[in-house]
Amino acid sequence: MLLASAVVVVHMSTLLWLNHVRFPLLPRANAIGWMMLLLSNALSIAAIFYRVRSASSPTNNRWWLYLASTCITSIGTIAYLLRSLSLLGSPADTSSLPILFYQLASVPLLMAISVSFDEFWIRSVRLLDLATAFLTAALFTVLVLIVTGPSFGHERYYLIDIIFDVRNLFLASCAILRLLGIAGEEEEQQFFSSIAIILLFQAVLNSARNRAIVHHNGPFWNLVLDLLFLTPFLVLCTIEWWSSVRLRTYYPSRALASFSRISISIFMTLGAILIAIGIIRIHFFAGAAGIILALILYGARMGFLGEEKLLLDPLTGIPNRRSLDETLSREWRRASRVQSTLVLLLIDIDYFKRINDTYGHQRGDSILIEVAQALRSTLGRSSDFIGRYGGEEFLAILPALSPEGTRRLTRKLCLAVEDLRIENTKSPYGTVTISIGAVAGDNSEMHIHSPSDLLRRADKALYEAKQAGRNCVRIVGLTEENSSPDDMGLSISIDS
Ligand code: GH3
Ligand code: MG
Ligand code: MG
Repeated sequence: MLLASAVVVVHMSTLLWLNHVRFPLLPRANAIGWMMLLLSNALSIAAIFYRVRSASSPTNNRWWLYLASTCITSIGTIAYLLRSLSLLGSPADTSSLPILFYQLASVPLLMAISVSFDEFWIRSVRLLDLATAFLTAALFTVLVLIVTGPSFGHERYYLIDIIFDVRNLFLASCAILRLLGIAGEEEEQQFFSSIAIILLFQAVLNSARNRAIVHHNGPFWNLVLDLLFLTPFLVLCTIEWWSSVRLRTYYPSRALASFSRISISIFMTLGAILIAIGIIRIHFFAGAAGIILALILYGARMGFLGEEKLLLDPLTGIPNRRSLDETLSREWRRASRVQSTLVLLLIDIDYFKRINDTYGHQRGDSILIEVAQALRSTLGRSSDFIGRYGGEEFLAILPALSPEGTRRLTRKLCLAVEDLRIENTKSPYGTVTISIGAVAGDNSEMHIHSPSDLLRRADKALYEAKQAGRNCVRIVGLTEENSSPDDMGLSISIDS
């Protein structure tokens, strides 16, 4: 924070001073102005490189792509500089080379925003996302090339500015969409929120400068231009400061998360189609091919994905083992990073075999659905995750739950199932009940053990709960006073 402010103050005052002495030595001051611009580019690259090094996989892949994008933008700036020094064509030349570089920079950036690098995403879907991002960026480039062509006369500059503003807003919207769907992954949240802020800020600054520079020129607008290139540096240097409070506690609702997951691919495809429609008037075949390709990619993605099907259990409609494994390893990483606890509940229906034997398998299935829904609706926080672990067992993953919260929640879950009052005459309790093995992993062991160790302990706790007579909760790993009998007659034992 301090470093960022110091750099900005020094940078800006030097620029203002240089602009002040500009009139007697115009060409030299101009060159110095360019130097400042290149310096802000270099600062941004350094800040991004720092993020690449400090982020862990998969987020560092995104930072690498963003780094590539910024380097390509810098090459564009250098091309601009060389041209204005008459080293690369004449300054009055309308060659689109620098503009082409600026546009090409959106290819890796769009990939960084749209592609999922998580291992649990199927490879084909990742490749299709990559192809869609590439197509959208390629169509944008074709559009820019068309507009910079000779047929557009002087209004081309105006049009190009509009295209770049729209591009920045489009990319920022994609980043915001992704941000809305991310639960608990602090590094991913930091990436998407920084990109959204940078792009929104650049779109606003850029359009302000373009509107104003036609009428005014001089120190102030040079400063705005410089700030435009300095934005990534400023945002990335202050990331810990502005994201620490809000991002750590942000968890989207389930509806919002699934909306974000689905809408990002629709949004990308829609972007490609809209640009292709813009192209079709001038280059019919390029535009038409763009539209068809975008639709094919989208169709293939949906076909491959059957997204919900892959992640949800077909019988109960709650997340399946695959989702659970992925969520557990993600929450484990997050918990060890932010040094918080992670609570696991292994929930098993009591005497379920007898239900199948007495009432038939079909009745057993419908009871599984009822219990799954009851468990799910009992979990209050959107950060809580529950899925079908297999058979008639469920696993709940509860980040940062307090000992008192764990005790209260396990009791609530047992009572929620009891309250369904589903008959099970072969059970000593007369109704369907559950037993829970709960384990709290705290920050002291996150670096030593693994998610499977935690699961093994939950399994052992569940076994002990079963041994204790079922309809029972066994909690291990909480640093709390021992066993406390429950006022509702439910046995909850705690072992620190
Ligand atoms: P306990 O109280 O010790 O848990 O007794 P239990 O009878 O529940 O024992 P166990 O957990 O070993 O039995 C699980 C049974 O759940 C065995 C299997 O027939 C049944 N089951 C597993 N998956 C399904 C399913 O999808 N539908 C139905 N109807 N039954 C299932
Ligand atoms: Mg059972
Ligand atoms: Mg079982």
